[in-house]
Amino acid sequence: MTEQDLAGRRAVITGGASGIGLACAREFARRGAHVVIADLDAAAAETAATELGGEAWVVDLSDTRALDTLALDADILVNNAGIQRVSPIVDFDPEAFRSIQRIMVEAPFLLIRAVLPGMYERGWGRIVNVSSVHGLRASAFKSAYVTAKHALEGLSKVTALEGGPHGVTSNCINPGYVRTPLVEKQIADQARLHDIPESEVVQRIMLTESAIKRLVEADEVASLAGWLTSDTAGMVTGASYTMDGGWSAR
Ligand code: NAD
Repeated sequence: MTEQDLAGRRAVITGGASGIGLACAREFARRGAHVVIADLDAAAAETAATELGGEAWVVDLSDTRALDTLALDADILVNNAGIQRVSPIVDFDPEAFRSIQRIMVEAPFLLIRAVLPGMYERGWGRIVNVSSVHGLRASAFKSAYVTAKHALEGLSKVTALEGGPHGVTSNCINPGYVRTPLVEKQIADQARLHDIPESEVVQRIMLTESAIKRLVEADEVASLAGWLTSDTAGMVTGASYTMDGGWSAR
């Protein structure tokens, strides 16, 4: 990919202070984009922005009412911020379920809504929605997350249909388990729920469906996000690209 092919582009990455979002921000900055790290974690967002010569936007994306009237200037939007809660439906805290829908469905809708007018005006835009293999498949104990990711798939496709005539593409990326702080946190929860030692969770629970028995790396996901923002991906829209070691081939 051409070095500096994103020079002059402004990229907003939600959850850009950690894991996959930070890897995407590094990829875009390396290629010359001005990056905006939108994250709840102010200190980590400032650190990332300083490292990449970009800016931090400290925002709680669960407070969706505050996004109703937002106008957002960006050529690239990555809807990436997300959280996980692992619990059977019968015990699932209703407020946690609602909060996950706000962060992972309502906020992406409101950010897309805020960013499209500028993209339409310039006739160019790239929206990358970080979904999951759980946007295409379900797992027990993840009702809120699987529900939110399936909804994000629908939102991405509608955005693709509306944005197409204006030079705006919208796609999902669907990783399997990626080595990030979000996954590290899940290992203890899964060990408790499945009643097995933490040391066995990755091989016995997380990688059971994957043909390739390792976690995905965040920079592998970022390279796919990077390609989706390139001009050579201009005809790719409304698609969902798995990076799951073969999980969803079953
Ligand atoms: P992470 O925990 O490393 O990073 C998530 C970032 O989002 C953090 O910086 C956090 O501060 C921010 N964030 C959380 N709640 C927020 C809020 N209310 N407002 C603003 N920012 C908020 O997670 P990650 O593993 O890099 O996950 C990023 C995305 O990738 C998520 O949408 C996740 O569902 C998806 N994903 C992750 C995996 C995986 O295995 N790690 C697999 C598939 C999909």
